Amino acid sequence: MSYSKANLRYADEVISKRKTDAEMIQRERQIEAIKKIPEIGAYIKELSGLTFDLVKSMSAEDFDSRIREVADTNQKVQRKIRSLLTENGFPADYLDIPYTCRDCSDTGYVGGYVCSCRRALLNELNVRDLEAVSPAENCRFDNFNLGYYSDVPDARYGISPREKMSDVLEYCRGYAEDFSLNSDSIYMYGATGLGKTHLSLSIANTVARNGFSAVYYSAQNLLSDIEREKFSGEKTHTEAKAMGCDLLIIDDLGTEFATQFTVSKIYNILNDRINRSKPVIISTNLDLAELEKKYTERITSRIIGNYTHLFFAGSDVRQILKG
Ligand SMILES: [Zn+2]
Repeated sequence: MSYSKANLRYADEVISKRKTDAEMIQRERQIEAIKKIPEIGAYIKELSGLTFDLVKSMSAEDFDSRIREVADTNQKVQRKIRSLLTENGFPADYLDIPYTCRDCSDTGYVGGYVCSCRRALLNELNVRDLEAVSPAENCRFDNFNLGYYSDVPDARYGISPREKMSDVLEYCRGYAEDFSLNSDSIYMYGATGLGKTHLSLSIANTVARNGFSAVYYSAQNLLSDIEREKFSGEKTHTEAKAMGCDLLIIDDLGTEFATQFTVSKIYNILNDRINRSKPVIISTNLDLAELEKKYTERITSRIIGNYTHLFFAGSDVRQILKG
């Protein structure tokens, strides 16, 4: 699991706002209830007096028995409040603090451990980050349509493109669900329009929902952001993000304009991630020989040895959609 500092801070703010909002709602409801049922005011006072008594007797010798006494009285008073509420048409729990998460009372932690509500929020923020830079929301495994791929066996693969892509889809789904920091890197190779972007984003979506930071870039955007940072000084932190995230996706590698600078940047990022065993998904319509021409043997040899190779078969899905 890994979350950016900004998201950790944001999650703390959201959860603490949930708590203050819930407490404010409780106070407003108390005022409303006291107006309608004045005697409830005395009981509420009695309850806060009990907390005060407890603090006062912290150092007393008979602390244990006092705790029991206070707990008993507390329950009795609570019961009285509840029955007064229902007698007057309010729900019995109307004066409980309406926490978003009852497990942790909107603190984000239970018994020193991170509460599931905080984890869920952080995962949501991971997905939001991903969607901010990619069309990820529409790319899911369940809307990947195998119907676009021919079911006629192709001599080149020995099976039909549909069967081949069904295997690819299952591989990607399994990869995403079992994703860990030790997962393999993937080299997705095949002609344009065969669903590489769709499947790499489906993986990113699942991985982000499971609490990992996934970062998606088209090769074009990745390199132009890095260039902008270098030459105009604009702080995009692109390189740091590409190096630091749990899963990096570089889509459409090879379509961008390669310079000595971009080649060395790509090499550094891929090399750094291989050295630290951090997974990458590269998608490209270049085979390894073409990639080598563009990116030197240094890069392709690392990809050959360290990546799982996935070949995408079929005819351009976008052409079929148009036709
Ligand atoms: Zn919680």
